[in-house]
Amino acid sequence: MSISKFPHHDVAVVGAGLAGLTLALALARSGMHIALIERQSPDQLAAVEVDGRTTALAASARVVLEDIGVWHRLEPYGGPILDIRVTDRASPLHIHFAHAAVGDDPMGHIVENHILRRELLAALAAEPTLTAYWQQSVTAFDGAGDGSGATATLTLDSGTIIQAPLVAAADGRGSALRRMAGIGVRASDYHETAIVCTAYHEHSHDGIAHERFLSGGPFAILPMLDNAAGQYRSSIVWTENRSLAEHLLTVPKPRFERELARRFGDFLGQVTVPGEVWSYPLSVVVAKRLTGPRLVLVGEAAHGMHPIAGQGFNVSMRDIVGLRDAVTGASLAGQDHGSPMVLSAYARKRWPDIWAMVAATDGLNRLFRTDLPPVALARRLGLASVNRLPLLKRQFQRHAMGMLPFGR
Ligand SMILES: Cc1cc2nc3c(=O)[nH]c(=O)nc-3n(C[C@H](O)[C@H](O)[C@H](O)COP(=O)(O)OP(=O)(O)OC[C@H]3O[C@@H](n4cnc5c(N)ncnc54)[C@H](O)[C@@H]3O)c2cc1C
Repeated sequence: MSISKFPHHDVAVVGAGLAGLTLALALARSGMHIALIERQSPDQLAAVEVDGRTTALAASARVVLEDIGVWHRLEPYGGPILDIRVTDRASPLHIHFAHAAVGDDPMGHIVENHILRRELLAALAAEPTLTAYWQQSVTAFDGAGDGSGATATLTLDSGTIIQAPLVAAADGRGSALRRMAGIGVRASDYHETAIVCTAYHEHSHDGIAHERFLSGGPFAILPMLDNAAGQYRSSIVWTENRSLAEHLLTVPKPRFERELARRFGDFLGQVTVPGEVWSYPLSVVVAKRLTGPRLVLVGEAAHGMHPIAGQGFNVSMRDIVGLRDAVTGASLAGQDHGSPMVLSAYARKRWPDIWAMVAATDGLNRLFRTDLPPVALARRLGLASVNRLPLLKRQFQRHAMGMLPFGR
């Protein structure tokens, strides 16, 4: 038997974005020894300057976060989504989803990304089976694809070598691990950019999220908790053609606020944006394979989709639960949890959900972008009809809350 001179872990997680942090926590809390490798520092990860987005956590994501024992940390910062109102341009036809139609719980919660990261990092700091390698990048990956070994080897830019039977690549849309493993992608640029900011307004949003389909793209108003000074706030995800978005990012703030107000309307009184504005170029990127020798892709490394329905991280949560169950199940059965058998069973289970969400977000975006009169008319009538059919409406609502898999 050969004894490795390198630190050995059950799973090495590369990337400490929302997906990597949550996966590392879920695995560590299942008793596994985890290496977490991230090129940024914890302070950078938890800084609002680095990521101004919020995440709409669906009701099903909350259940997972409860299960891994971190929801109690997040709940005080989560703005409950009580209702969702969907409108198309200036048409008076709409759909209104009320949480009361399916139960007492909110349909989801809006949490600021930097707070999500801060609280996940704090939870991870207390995990004795986790070793973190901060401010270090993976520069080489060897999955022993030739069958020569029972471990994968990672080389970091610090010179550190890490070995583990399984590497989980949660290193984002441009995943270096995916490239190193020779896994290709299907990708398409939307030529759209999401402008993200926090809007302050005079009246309460009453927990109602608004999704407006405008000619430039979807415009979402997401209900945040009031700030410490009691000011009403909403998170804005405003999609525009890339060239217009780039222009809007350069105009003086009063002009930017006027443009925002044109789309926002005055139903919550005067709207201001005192803080920073962020932008995210939008594309769809789906890996051709979810696994490789001793490698599994998780989160945006596996699937980056349009944020139109706020589903990206919610889908990643389902990757995380599926992977945790596969890995811990194999370990309990005394099997090699990085074996092709375990990984291909995991991938078979995940593909239908991933493809359904990629297709749904892509299709919705295309459907609502078009101004062709017959399509626009059918779309508006569709919205109005769904609004009048309580059974169908509840079905849509359960999908949005992650309570039903797509395709059912
Ligand atoms: C505008 C917008 C709004 C969104 N809103 C929602 C929403 O409401 N709800 C929702 O569910 N989802 C939403 N999403 C999607 C969600 O933000 C992402 O799915 C989420 O951030 C998870 O990303 P990730 O952890 O997979 O990747 P990332 O956040 O990209 O993290 C990857 C990490 O890997 C590190 N890394 C990269 N390469 C290396 C390397 N070689 N070595 C070490 N470390 C490395 C990076 O530093 C980074 O920290 C939205 C997305 C956008 C663009």
